[in-house]
Amino acid sequence: MGNQYYKTNYPLKKMQELYEQGYTQQEVADIFKVSQKHLSFLFSSSGYISRKPMNRNQVGINNPNWKGNNICYHQFHRRVEKKRGKPKRCSKCGKTPYFSCQWANIKGNYQDIYDYTRLCKKCHKNFDEWKLKQPKIVLWIVLNFMS
Ligand SMILES: [Zn+2]
Repeated sequence: MGNQYYKTNYPLKKMQELYEQGYTQQEVADIFKVSQKHLSFLFSSSGYISRKPMNRNQVGINNPNWKGNNICYHQFHRRVEKKRGKPKRCSKCGKTPYFSCQWANIKGNYQDIYDYTRLCKKCHKNFDEWKLKQPKIVLWIVLNFMS
C-alpha cells in the first residue's frame, strides 16, 4: 500500500532518470523538493537499485559543467590570489575599480599561478568569449605572447 502512495505522488521515473544522468541523490531531492532521506526511501521502496559509483565518475569526466571542476577552478583562483595578491587593475582596459578585477586564466593551465592575467569582469568575459571563437593556432600564438 505504501508503495502505491509514493508511486502516484512522485515522478519516480523522472527522478531515477536524473539520478542515472549523474545527479546525486541530494541534487535530485532538491529538484523535487524532498529530503535526500525521503528520496532514498522512495528509491529503495520502489525496488530501484542505485547506480554504481562508477557511473558518476564517467559522467564527471565527460561533463565540462561538472560541479567538481568548478570547485577546483575556484580553488585555483584562490591560490593565485594568495600568491600574487588581489588584482587591482585590469591589464586590458586599465580601469581601476579594484572590486571588479579578477585573475583570468590565459592558457588553461589552471594549476600554474603564472598562467593568469588581471582583468576586470567585462574584459574577462570578452576575453573568454574571444578565446572560444579563435582557431587553435591563433590562440596558441597570441596567448604565448601574453602573460
Ligand atoms: Zn578591463
